[in-house]
Amino acid sequence: MTNIVSELIKQEVEREESTINLIASENYAPQNILDATGSVLTNKYAEGYPGKRYYGGCEIVDKVELYAIEQGRKLFSCEHINVQPHSGSSANFAVYLSSLKPGDTILGMDLSCGGHLTHGHKVNFSGKIYNFIPYHVSPETEQLDYNEIEILANQHQPKMIVAGASAYSRFIDFEKLYDIAKRNNTLLFIDIAHIAGLIAAEIHPSPIPYADFVSSTTHKTLRGPRGGIILSKLDHAQKLDRAVMPGSQGGPLMHVIAAKAVAFDNALSPEFKTYQEQVVKNSKTMAQEFKNLNYRIVSGGTDNHLFLIDLRNKEISGKETEKLLEQAGIVLNCNSIPFDTTPPTVTSGIRIGTPAVTTRGFKESNVLQVVHWIDELIKNRNNTDFTKKLKVEIHDFCKKFPIYKN
Ligand SMILES: *Cc1c(COP(=O)(O)O)cnc(C)c1O
Repeated sequence: MTNIVSELIKQEVEREESTINLIASENYAPQNILDATGSVLTNKYAEGYPGKRYYGGCEIVDKVELYAIEQGRKLFSCEHINVQPHSGSSANFAVYLSSLKPGDTILGMDLSCGGHLTHGHKVNFSGKIYNFIPYHVSPETEQLDYNEIEILANQHQPKMIVAGASAYSRFIDFEKLYDIAKRNNTLLFIDIAHIAGLIAAEIHPSPIPYADFVSSTTHKTLRGPRGGIILSKLDHAQKLDRAVMPGSQGGPLMHVIAAKAVAFDNALSPEFKTYQEQVVKNSKTMAQEFKNLNYRIVSGGTDNHLFLIDLRNKEISGKETEKLLEQAGIVLNCNSIPFDTTPPTVTSGIRIGTPAVTTRGFKESNVLQVVHWIDELIKNRNNTDFTKKLKVEIHDFCKKFPIYKN
């Protein structure tokens, strides 16, 4: 490796080890995932699917992909899985491509209510190619408004309804969405990029029995390599596979597919369930403590690994808070709250997630400490000495929770 890059990787290891990571979409891949991702499988071209490749020399990678498929199907109890998407966004592209024509109508969750770019944002391919009609959370409960979805479905007769979010702290009622989709004769697509780990561990309801398509990333709560997967009913399998390759991708990343298989193996272990339970315990503990300290939690609480804080009563923006906390070694992201009136670069809120710190071994008492640090930093926002002092304290604290052993 060039000296420059290996030096930068060392610096990144040090950054990760010495800061507290509350970014809800991040996690720390275990060593066995890093090993597979860093393997010689990266050398192999394997366009096509096991047994039907466009290249020779695929006998071993065929076994790798078949094993990933077998373990993925076992983990999610699904009829079909495609393990080739390079990312969550590529997975979503393939789902739309498999079943829709440009200009078709899709109902998707508004980005400002917690949805994802690929669910119809105007700057994204999804919003440019398809006719997206946004649905929202209820302004009162800040939870999904299934009545609105039903009314919009009725009115617009979409070809597809997409649900799933990047910043939504409540269970999603997949059965209700299924009923709406069925009554309106439309496809149901659920994007579980954030909650896949919770679903695999059976502590979040599963959309698999209800949805035509389910897409996910593998690097968020699922704690695997950076990548995507798509699960579907058997009737959609052929058109889905064709939409991934040749429809939207060339050669699969066999090293990443191997790491996905390792991630599925990891997720099938009893320790994984204990881990996910702790993720949610930590999330609920933090949200409750913030409430005790007079912070407003969007929707009033959380059922999963994340929650949003509305900072308006603290008279500090999301962006300012993000910067302030980063100076002390606490890393998170500013986030729009539902019906936010400030621009997405400023925001009135922050998003807090517990998957990464829980992987490090943080328990309830540790995350309570983090809540108090955040509160003190916000209270002492104009006191740079305080921020510096806390940075040292947080650095020492992090040493007690090493992420990688060597
Ligand atoms: C993260 C995310 C994605 C996209 O994943 P990438 O791998 O970043 O492309 C898609 N949908 C949702 C809901 C997400 O949270």
